[in-house]
Amino acid sequence: MQYSQPMDRPVNPQSPAGDRATPLRHRDDLIAHGLVRPEDGPLLDEVAARYATAIPPAFLSLIETPDDPIGLQVIPSPAELTIAPHERVDPIGDDALSPVPGIVHRYADRALLKPLLICPLYCRFCFRREHVGPEGGLLSDDDLNQAFDWLRARPAIREVILTGGDPLMLSPRRLRRIMDALTAIPHLETIRLHSRVPMAAPDRMTSEMLDALETDRAFWMVVHANHAREFSEAARAALRAIQRRGIPVLGQSVLLRGVNDSVPALEGLLRAMVTARVKPYYLHQLDPAPGTAHFHVPIHEGRALLEALRGRVTGLAWPTYVLDIPGGHGKVPIGPDYIGPAGDSVRDPNGVRRTLGGDVL
Ligand SMILES: *Cc1c(COP(=O)(O)O)cnc(C)c1O
Ligand code: SF4
Repeated sequence: MQYSQPMDRPVNPQSPAGDRATPLRHRDDLIAHGLVRPEDGPLLDEVAARYATAIPPAFLSLIETPDDPIGLQVIPSPAELTIAPHERVDPIGDDALSPVPGIVHRYADRALLKPLLICPLYCRFCFRREHVGPEGGLLSDDDLNQAFDWLRARPAIREVILTGGDPLMLSPRRLRRIMDALTAIPHLETIRLHSRVPMAAPDRMTSEMLDALETDRAFWMVVHANHAREFSEAARAALRAIQRRGIPVLGQSVLLRGVNDSVPALEGLLRAMVTARVKPYYLHQLDPAPGTAHFHVPIHEGRALLEALRGRVTGLAWPTYVLDIPGGHGKVPIGPDYIGPAGDSVRDPNGVRRTLGGDVL
């Protein structure tokens, strides 16, 4: 690893307004920082033709070696050119569930609103990797108004989930306008926002950004983090600033080969969340997006990892292990089962089967 190169890159004209720190995006910058091998250049150009790259300073400073749990998440790899037969461009079927631009509606009581497709970094395993990117997907005012109309006409929808892309890559002014429009819809009881910004670009969590999130509705944030080291001092300060505004923060992670697929790594991640007052919500089974097979961890391994934590790690740290069933059939829990096949016994946290009597059956 070398950091002798100057960190201040030429300002990328595609950078959204308010982006203070310029991420690494180009193959030559990655080579100059020792993150990729020069001889991989031509293959990386092929990767770059399909998938966006951005390594923000907050993540760059955490990378110790390119194949460590931070580097693997964000550094493009020739392995992404290997597309397995079962991998799909739209692994969880979002495209078929979009009634108007920016809305995804699969469950009766909630809908996603994706105001943009820009992220602070581009995860190499992202299930929307064919869509996200720095030029991408900013909804026009007309599109936004159509999305608000769609939500307004559907009183069954109680919760809107702001996602993308990453909604905290919007300018505070634009985010404020979206929050105002949502808060004006009486049946929206809950507004949820999914983001990687507190970890990946903590300097975006300014008081203007926090002001933009104020609402009289129940407002919840879910942050995406996959390794304990993402909880840097700056990230923890950003999370504190969010929590001081009275916003509960949950964590979501993807189970990833080489990143968090060992008991110590997963335990470290979940404990880092609890310590940062972030309640682990979902541990996602990897969606089969193109070129992500090298991150795949089989479900039986994921279940064994969680079993190894049961009883040893605080219950606060326990996430629901979920699979988004390929083809758009929805998310279901796939964690370890403790109840026996006949329903009259359970395994205890040490794996010993205990017969249940009439007192609980
Ligand atoms: C994941 C997802 C949600 C949120 O699901 P929760 O289980 O409530 O977190 C909502 N809508 C769609 C389309 C989703 O994919
Ligand atoms: S932050 Fe989310 S949407 Fe953006 S690249 Fe990562 S997984 Fe995909």
